[in-house]
Amino acid sequence: MAEHSTGHRHFHGEELILATHNKGKVKEIAQRLERLNVSVVGADALGLPEPVEDGDSFEANAALKALPAAKATGKIALADDSGLSVTALSGAPGIYSARWAGESKDFTAAMQRVHDELGDTPNRHAAFICVIALAWPDGHVETVRGECEGALVWPIRGADGFGYDPMFQPDGYDVTFGEMDFAEKQNISHRKKALDKIFAQCFTL
Ligand code: IMP
Repeated sequence: MAEHSTGHRHFHGEELILATHNKGKVKEIAQRLERLNVSVVGADALGLPEPVEDGDSFEANAALKALPAAKATGKIALADDSGLSVTALSGAPGIYSARWAGESKDFTAAMQRVHDELGDTPNRHAAFICVIALAWPDGHVETVRGECEGALVWPIRGADGFGYDPMFQPDGYDVTFGEMDFAEKQNISHRKKALDKIFAQCFTL
C-alpha cells in the first residue's frame, strides 16, 4: 500500500464504508463524499454491529469504530467520534456526549444536565469536536480533528439538527445549530473541518 511523500496513506477507490449508525452524521458525511464521486455504504446496510466505545479519547473511539468495519469488509472505512466539550466543565461531556443522553438517546435531558452542571457560571464557552478515522483492513489508521467554537445558550432554541445542536451557538452567529439551516451548518461545523482535513490528507481531490 503506497504511503505518499507526506507520510500519509491515500484512499484510492470508489467505495467507502461509513462506519456510523447515527443518521445525522451519515447525512452530513455522505453528502460530502458523494461530491468526490465516492459512494458510501453505511454500517446499518452491512449489518455491522455498533462497537463498544470504551476508548479514552475521541481518536481512540473513532479508530474503534472504523477498524472493525474495515476488517469485516476488507474495504477502507471511515468513522467519526464527536462530542461537546464544555470549558467550565473541564471538557465534559466530551467523549461521553452520547452517553449523557442515556439508552433512550434523550438529548433534551442531556442538555438539561449540561445546563444544571454549569449552574450560574458566567463562562459559557464550548466547542464541538470531531475526530475522523480512516482505517484500512491491514490495521493502518489515519486520524484528523476538527473543532467548532461557540457558546451555550439557555433556553434551548431550534428543532433542526441533532444532539446538542439547540443549545450551541457558534461564534459569529446569533442562531444556534438547531436553528441554522443544514447547508449553513455544513459550512462551519466541526465535522466539516475534520472532513476538509481528511480529504486534504488522504484523498486525491
Ligand atoms: P458519538 O456518536 O459517539 O460520536 O457521539 C457523539 C455525540 O455527540 C452525538 O450523539 C451527539 O450527541 C453529540 N454531537 C456530535 N456532533 C454533534 C453535532 O454536530 N451536533 C449536535 N450534537 C453533536
